[in-house]
Amino acid sequence: MKPVRNIVIAGGGTAGWMAAAALSKLIGKHLSITLIESDDIGTVGVGEATIPPIRTLHKLLGIDEKTFLRHTNATFKLGIQFENWGQKGDSYIHSFGVTGRECWAGEFHHFWLRAQAEKAEHAEYGFGSYCLEHQAALNGKFGLSQNAPLNFAYHLDASKYAGFLGRLAKQAGVKRIEGKIEHVTKDNQNGFITALKLNNGLTVEGDLFIDCTGFHGLLIEQALHTGYCDWSHYLPCDSALAMQSELQGQPAPFTRSVAHDAGWRWHIPLQHRMGNGLVYCKRYLSDDEANARLRKAVSSHPINEPRVIRFTPGKRRYGWNKNCVALGLASGFIEPLESTSIHLIMTAVVRLMRLFPFDGITQAGIDEYNSKFDSEMHCILDFIAMHYKVTERDDSEFWRHCQHMDIPDSLQHKLDLFKQTGRVFLDDGDIFRVDSWTQVMLGQRLRPQQYHRIADEMPKEEFNRFMQGLREQVKQQMQSLPSHGDFINRTIK
Ligand code: FAD
Repeated sequence: MKPVRNIVIAGGGTAGWMAAAALSKLIGKHLSITLIESDDIGTVGVGEATIPPIRTLHKLLGIDEKTFLRHTNATFKLGIQFENWGQKGDSYIHSFGVTGRECWAGEFHHFWLRAQAEKAEHAEYGFGSYCLEHQAALNGKFGLSQNAPLNFAYHLDASKYAGFLGRLAKQAGVKRIEGKIEHVTKDNQNGFITALKLNNGLTVEGDLFIDCTGFHGLLIEQALHTGYCDWSHYLPCDSALAMQSELQGQPAPFTRSVAHDAGWRWHIPLQHRMGNGLVYCKRYLSDDEANARLRKAVSSHPINEPRVIRFTPGKRRYGWNKNCVALGLASGFIEPLESTSIHLIMTAVVRLMRLFPFDGITQAGIDEYNSKFDSEMHCILDFIAMHYKVTERDDSEFWRHCQHMDIPDSLQHKLDLFKQTGRVFLDDGDIFRVDSWTQVMLGQRLRPQQYHRIADEMPKEEFNRFMQGLREQVKQQMQSLPSHGDFINRTIK
């Protein structure tokens, strides 16, 4: 076994620089790290919404929030507002918050379902009335206060974020080489990658190669032929158009995801502009129609021309093959609906660091990495496929296809369990909380046939006080928060 000391990162998008920043800061003392990127090829240029664990990575990297906000034009994100998903005209928020208060036997939704079943005075209040993040989002509020603690993530400018991480990585000793990788050299005997040859004549040798070349998968696929699990039978969208536009008014503290008749579109507010995009299935919508639809939906002045991005939803068969670990789009892409890709880069980097093969690459280490990668991706697949499957929409070919499409058995079980019993149990590796599953299933009109009877044990008057008390607490906390725009302006001053 050959000790691993020389790390070569191929690609300098969010994945490449996130890996470089984390490895150099946290285990870099033992390693030499080189990153190769091509200015000619550039990055995918999208990927602007995140989920809360990104804050843990920032803490590990010692990133100061004010500096981060200034350099990446970031805003705060409390969740995603889904519009037109269950039925046209519907709207709900998948927030990052905890809804209500749970008890030992079950989560708060059982109490909420009791109120609905009894048609009690509380029945008119939606599930989100009991969640601070939900209410703060709806009212455009944000703050960092102990009296009103919020769980949050960020919207950020993808190119600036890669640059920001790049500066951290270079300060921590990462060497950057500009050039296009033209050839991958492999060992004749074991097939391990030994070096990358660039168009400028340089040859870069290494012990471990991290493929962050985006959809190209230059090392993991083109050189090592690892294989790809195509999940397009579960996830109907395969194309996206991205377009930036001017910001109108204050940035909202949430992402908007608006379903249309062949997919959905996103609106992501940053400090200085909006990121907009249309995700669609090319079988049901042409690129020209998608372009026209996106332009029509964006009311503010466009900053750039929309461009088409094609993808095959799925994952690389192995995230780690021989001496190559794929991160970011090179490792797969489920689709952007729940902003999980940057998160997956982070969890993969952390997993790699925990299993880091200082003394040599072992098959057991590789297998462990791949098994965790596999379960994490399958959990996200279930969650995203749920958005398409749990719908009453049948107003287009696309939605009729979604209603009849296959879903993984694991998802079918979760949907049956919720529908028949009102229960949600998480699988190992699930990055979503019970609250997340419940918000989406209820938000998309899946109503359970029963709830846990523990919720009935509270006498009626106490139950009324309990529900009202929770709502009032949320309302008071929400009202104590400043507006999102004011909070950002104050923070970055
Ligand atoms: P890229 O950004 O494509 O970077 C690839 C790098 O490899 C570049 O530096 C390129 O120059 C280099 N490279 C490629 N070939 C060569 C070569 N031959 N030689 C040298 N260098 C090379 N994620 C989220 O978390 N939230 C979102 O809201 C979100 N929205 C998305 C929307 C869409 C439509 C898409 C497609 C993705 C979205 N993602 C989102 C995913 C997110 O964009 C990516 O996970 C993230 O940007 C990381 O990309 P990457 O670094 O893997 O690839």
